[in-house]
Amino acid sequence: NAARLFLPHMQRDADARLELERGLRSALERQDFSLHFQPQVDMDGKLVGAEALLRWSHATLGQVSPATFIPVAEETGLIHAIGAWVIDRSCQHIREWRDLGVDFGGRISINISPWQIAHPHFVSHIAAQVAEAGIEPSALTLELTESALLSDFDAALNTLQQLSAIGFRLALDDFGTGYSSLAYLQKLPLDELKIDRSFIVALQANIAHPLASFVIDVGRRLGMTTIAEGVETAEQKSILRQLGCELMQGYFICRPLPAVEFRRW
Ligand code: C2E
Ligand code: MG
Ligand code: MG
Repeated sequence: NAARLFLPHMQRDADARLELERGLRSALERQDFSLHFQPQVDMDGKLVGAEALLRWSHATLGQVSPATFIPVAEETGLIHAIGAWVIDRSCQHIREWRDLGVDFGGRISINISPWQIAHPHFVSHIAAQVAEAGIEPSALTLELTESALLSDFDAALNTLQQLSAIGFRLALDDFGTGYSSLAYLQKLPLDELKIDRSFIVALQANIAHPLASFVIDVGRRLGMTTIAEGVETAEQKSILRQLGCELMQGYFICRPLPAVEFRRW
């Protein structure tokens, strides 16, 4: 009992989406992916690690943002192969920097999709990957979002407990934007809380910051390292220091860089 209109842009959208999907399928073979690294520093500017961010350079579409292609990778199931590539590549970089005596802060954070966490063999696969690369698990921080915990909390909790027991560090990404209850937060074996950029953007001198202050406090009281993401100004940095935030990353310190430039940095 409906009338539907078909508009030309709907076909264009469908074509674009199909091209994205096709491109993703061949991107791994064609080596169109690379990792960029964004330094993470303490409040004195000392390097403590870096976040690996996936980059895709498509032959005709150019640079495609992970915000665009990760959802497509998740819907098509390609996220498992792509995610495994990110883990392998990160391990290789860590090995290489160690062999060269490059101080990269000692650990690399990688973003893990909820779909990877839900995969029945994720724990054994990632454990095998680091072992094969000759890296200890504590050199990797796995960044998860709250959506990884929503569908089946007990299953996710079990997976996180296994990962933590093996020695991986765990971080909750984009903290403060989801719906996670504080009771859940306390149950999770998290090492690090990443304060979402939306809280950082709002930081200005001479005004109160009850929310940012609250989120940082929650992390500290639960014994987690707090890290602010998206720090863009000196003012934001000095307020974060006052609020007791320990670590930060953002354009104010450095943009995400290709591996070679990160090494130089
Ligand atoms: P995220 O993990 O929260 O990463 C932070 C994003 O903020 C990155 O965008 C980074 O480039 C950007 N950023 C860093 N500093 C600043 C700043 O000072 N100002 C502003 N405006 N932005 C800043 P990017 O690289 O486009 O990544 C977007 C999202 O894509 C990531 O959010 C993450 O959720 C996802 N992603 C990236 N790489 C991977 C990956 O390897 N696997 C999975 N599953 N997801 C990934
Ligand atoms: Mg992240
Ligand atoms: Mg984030």
